[in-house]
Amino acid sequence: MAAQETDEHKYVYDFSEGNKDLKDLLGGKGANLAEMTNLGLPVPPGFTITTEACQAYLATGREPDGLAGQIEAHLEALERAMGKHLGDPRDPLLVSVRSGAKFSMPGMMETVLNVGLNDQSVVGLSAQAGGNDRFAWDSYRRLIQMFGKTVCEVPGEEFEHALDEAKAAKGTSNDLDLDADDLRGLVDAYKKIFAKHTGREFPQQPREQLDLAIRAVFESWNAERAVLYRRQERIPADLGTAVNVVTMVFGNLGPDSGTGVAFTRDPGSGAQGIYGDYLANAQGEDVVAGIRNTVPLQELEQLDKSSYDELLGIMARLEEHYRDLCDIEFTIERGKLWMLQTRVGKRTAAAAFVIAGQLVDEGLIDLDEALHRVNGAQLAQLMFPRFQLDHEFEAVATGIGASPGAASGTVVFTSARAVELAAEGKSVILVRRETNPDDLNGMIAAQGILTSRGGKTSHAAVVARGMGKTCVSGADAIEVNVPAKRFTVAGQTVHEGDVVSIDGTTGKVYLGEVPVMPSEVVQYFEGSLDPEHIDNALVRAVHRIMTHADGKRRLAVRTNADTGADAARARRFGAEGIGLCRTEHMFLGDRRELVERLILARAADEREAALEALLPLQRDDFVEIFREMDGLPVTVRLIDPPLHEFLPPLEQLAVNVAVAQERGEDVAKEEALLAAVRRMHEENPMLGLRGVRLGLVIPGLFAMQVRAIVEAAVECAKRGGDPKPEIMVPLVGAVQELETVRAEAEKIIEEVTREKAVEVLIGTMIEVPRAALTAGQIAEAAQFFSFGTNDLTQMGWGFSRDDVEGAFFWRYLELGIFGISPFESIDRDGVGRLVRIAAEEGRAARPGLKLGVCGEHGGDPDSVHFFHEVGLDYVSCSPFRVPVARLEAGRAAVETGGSDSR
Ligand code: ADP
Ligand code: MG
Ligand code: MG
Repeated sequence: MAAQETDEHKYVYDFSEGNKDLKDLLGGKGANLAEMTNLGLPVPPGFTITTEACQAYLATGREPDGLAGQIEAHLEALERAMGKHLGDPRDPLLVSVRSGAKFSMPGMMETVLNVGLNDQSVVGLSAQAGGNDRFAWDSYRRLIQMFGKTVCEVPGEEFEHALDEAKAAKGTSNDLDLDADDLRGLVDAYKKIFAKHTGREFPQQPREQLDLAIRAVFESWNAERAVLYRRQERIPADLGTAVNVVTMVFGNLGPDSGTGVAFTRDPGSGAQGIYGDYLANAQGEDVVAGIRNTVPLQELEQLDKSSYDELLGIMARLEEHYRDLCDIEFTIERGKLWMLQTRVGKRTAAAAFVIAGQLVDEGLIDLDEALHRVNGAQLAQLMFPRFQLDHEFEAVATGIGASPGAASGTVVFTSARAVELAAEGKSVILVRRETNPDDLNGMIAAQGILTSRGGKTSHAAVVARGMGKTCVSGADAIEVNVPAKRFTVAGQTVHEGDVVSIDGTTGKVYLGEVPVMPSEVVQYFEGSLDPEHIDNALVRAVHRIMTHADGKRRLAVRTNADTGADAARARRFGAEGIGLCRTEHMFLGDRRELVERLILARAADEREAALEALLPLQRDDFVEIFREMDGLPVTVRLIDPPLHEFLPPLEQLAVNVAVAQERGEDVAKEEALLAAVRRMHEENPMLGLRGVRLGLVIPGLFAMQVRAIVEAAVECAKRGGDPKPEIMVPLVGAVQELETVRAEAEKIIEEVTREKAVEVLIGTMIEVPRAALTAGQIAEAAQFFSFGTNDLTQMGWGFSRDDVEGAFFWRYLELGIFGISPFESIDRDGVGRLVRIAAEEGRAARPGLKLGVCGEHGGDPDSVHFFHEVGLDYVSCSPFRVPVARLEAGRAAVETGGSDSR
């Protein structure tokens, strides 16, 4: 570095010096303007001031050394190339000053057009335009307006108000009816507004205009709205923005001029065709501002065929070059086409799949690249049920799509009411200004949550996502009045008991019940849509990309399923076995009574009788599951939760006993249960008598389960099936625990399989940190490991999920302690490290040890990539997440190196 100290740092790049890969330095807009310039497309000449200059300015509060000189040099070069000087009174060069960060970002400073105009050069501009006075004064008034508003914070309404007055005086509502004199008058009015708010005259020095505009772009990086947006989208705060200085071209020179925007394909559906809008005789900002009605781009063919053809040619060229959907901005100045912007365009989830498929057909990308271009979050979006919308339903408000899904229900305003109505079997939508931890029960009871405040990281949003509940947050058009039990929106009042529908994907809110239907993609996964025989571009694209992902992935995908029905559905979704079959539900319902007998047993024979009665019931459950997953592995977890969870709650028992005593009934059993519940009470059930500890404390419990599993397998095998049972011991922390359980299990397996041979594996969950750290020892006794990343996360961080998600996660997200909840996506550095250690040490002790994960992270896109990297054999997730995991496992396999999936 020292040797280069005298070398000046390069802060300014001519468009011919950059390219599309320099987004970090030149911002997206600048990098792509450079790319188009180098492609030989008609881009007005200009230069880009780098994000580094912005960073330096923001750090020190002044322009870095050398910047002013470099701007001067590039400006001179530009002037030479154009044969004009900035603001020259006779023949002025005018420029636009445009912000452009790496990621496109609302809330940043908008663009200032026509920089370089003043009281003299406005006359020169008119002469240059063949005496077009109207055009020149229109351009000047636009400069004062944009400069005033964005550089000097003059309230924009004042300018708009003055414009309206000018139009009113003329008796028109169309700004095209204002003539040169009207506009000259408007310039005077604008200057007065400017002076009133800034305490100075509108700057007449072109170079001062330029410098102030550049500085304002730098400073807009820290505008409140920009900061908020970055936080929400997790865009780093220190990137800074670039500034583009671009020679002006004029779409407002008359009817043979104009401006427009276009997409190379439909960003909504991905369909091929020409999508865009055109506005004759206007400057760029008019299109977005909606000042006049635009016409469909196709009409340009009539207006200016040669520009139209050239434009279509350029669009085709850009698509081929970027090998993707592009969106563009262009201007036509007296029949000459200019390109002002392009970028790889945003698109919906459906369009992402369709376009990727089309580009493969067109030979522009291969299937690996197509797979890279879509992601599991998009696929998940395509799998949510959706509203069947037609003209009858119009959104009354739009908030932030905070947690996807479609939900309809009765409006309630309090947590208590939500719980009440849900208990009656009603579907409810909890409406709040914002939620707080007191609303948790209501949120659990509700079908969906709607708030009028807060963004993607608000309490409501975080908790809803954690629960997989539909949520729309920050619908600020809604005025919530909790005491009065009503809200108002768009002039209508909605009372408690009325029905609303919310779309957690689009953030839209509807009055009334909008019917819900399963998505086409789910119908395809279910097997009810045949991709080869229907004309549905989306389903065909999904089918093709999924098939490719399956061919490429190294991770197998299993499902978490406790019943035959879930197993069957997951299998249709592509599950290759069960990674977690919980046995808890086999102790519920009418079997509770047997569990109570087991718990209350005072002697061995009473306990054995209860277990004896449970055995055939469990066996039947397993038979059904093995049948549905025939030929595929089924990992059954021995009972995990504390047994008192199967008993009625303390208060309820206490009341029962009191009431029965009152009536003089026999209360022996109730009293015994009450005593048991008191005895078994735990301060921290999460860390109490559960998992393998139960198996070691309650004689015969695990043995009964093992017997049920193996007998079921033998029964299936005898009928010609091919069951592949794997018995999994939960919550092991020390190898001795596993050895003890295993010795008992092996005796049972040996005995039961004498009749008919079935291979039964015995393995363990790795979900206690100690197990991860002693994996080498544990592997000696385990035929497989399955990472229980929910518990591993709880115990790794030392917090219980049920307690913390509502209590403080929102705050941790706000403070950036978490980028995302560690229950949603695996914490690579901490919990992930435990997984890595256990995988490495386990495999070192037992080569070929089978490794899987059965926590909810198994269906989270980013976590799937992590598990691929660590080298696990499979992930297991809920049935609906199976396709997402398949896709992401395929992506992980084809993506070598870079992990930038933004
Ligand atoms: P945004 O990012 O908000 O689109 P832009 O910097 O792209 O802001 O500019 C706003 C509008 O001004 C766009 O329509 C753009 O095409 C137009 N524009 C920008 N620079 C020029 C220029 N040098 N000549 C003509 N129009 C321009
Ligand atoms: Mg733009
Ligand atoms: Mg667990």
